Amino acid sequence: MTDIKSMTQGEITAALREMGESAFRGKQIFSWLHKGARSFDEMSDLSKDLRARLAAEYYITSPEIACKQVSKLDGTTKYLWRLSDGNCIETVLMSYHHGNTVCISSQVGCRMGCKFCASTIAGKVRDLRASEMLDQVLFTRLDSGREISNIVLMGIGEPLDNRETVLRFLQLVNHPDGLNIGMRHISLSTCGIVPGIDALAQEDLQLTLSVSLHAPDSETRSRIMPVNRSYDVEELFAACHRYFQKTGRRISFEYAMIDGVNDNDWQADLLAKKIRGMPGHVNLIPLNDVTESEFKPSRRVAAFQKRLESHGITATVRRSLGGDIDASCGQLRRKESEKQGGVTA
Ligand code: SAH
Repeated sequence: MTDIKSMTQGEITAALREMGESAFRGKQIFSWLHKGARSFDEMSDLSKDLRARLAAEYYITSPEIACKQVSKLDGTTKYLWRLSDGNCIETVLMSYHHGNTVCISSQVGCRMGCKFCASTIAGKVRDLRASEMLDQVLFTRLDSGREISNIVLMGIGEPLDNRETVLRFLQLVNHPDGLNIGMRHISLSTCGIVPGIDALAQEDLQLTLSVSLHAPDSETRSRIMPVNRSYDVEELFAACHRYFQKTGRRISFEYAMIDGVNDNDWQADLLAKKIRGMPGHVNLIPLNDVTESEFKPSRRVAAFQKRLESHGITATVRRSLGGDIDASCGQLRRKESEKQGGVTA
């Protein structure tokens, strides 16, 4: 059986031609899938015979809602989806004045091991398929009744550790017969996998690349992000420069403020020095307190921001949404697996 929702419109059309059907059928099926059809029987403009032939060869992924939390403060909604193999993944829907943003996961778990992050504590289980990334957008849209204007690949997982599939997902979600979400409305966040950044640059997409920097010096960064031992912060900045040269797109640097670790003035000075010459923007994130983590939120966010600005670097402080629900980084998924007898993977 083949996962039809991971296929591009071209691939579906080619497969339909082989089945002796007209190319037009491919377009019809593609739009049904991208409207969130859960079975071929819903595709009322296809013959019964064709629907049966399709169902014999292909399956349609269709996650169930395992848990849903809605913030009373700001309407932020968190979904925990159960996939066909029983694994659970998280999606967050946030409303801003410029529209609704959905934050999706790219893997079940994560193997990057960042010390402050709840998503990586139990490691990576598997990569998500393109259909499973798309489903997070499709079914969040259908369940919430809200149109999705922006997508951020900032949920669980490292997108550049599942790069080929993420690129396929981008192609699907961008298609005019599908959700038709423009690349400029999509952000991809990476912990800094240098070869992945270079490969992404070659695609020359108009998306926004976010780099989870979290420290400007190698010693601190290696302490909190093991990936820095493979791709050092100097190499990372060099890759960011190359990325900007190739795509002309400004990079956004994520910086989660950790008490006494990365919030010192000298680090703001060093960060400013390293970003200079590259149109970059710093996004300061108040650290979400992860119970299992030794790190605590910084009390110097405003001072750090001022210090960066005094060097001419634009820095914003990310507004925290969904404070009354488990809206951040792997918290809901962890709770759910603890309920089911402990986190196993
Ligand atoms: N793997 C990708 C995308 C997922 S993480 C990446 O590393 O960028 C999304 C963002 O949340 C990253 O910037 C990550 O470093 C940050 N993050 C993880 N745990 C956090 C915490 N406890 N508080 C604040 N930000 C956190």
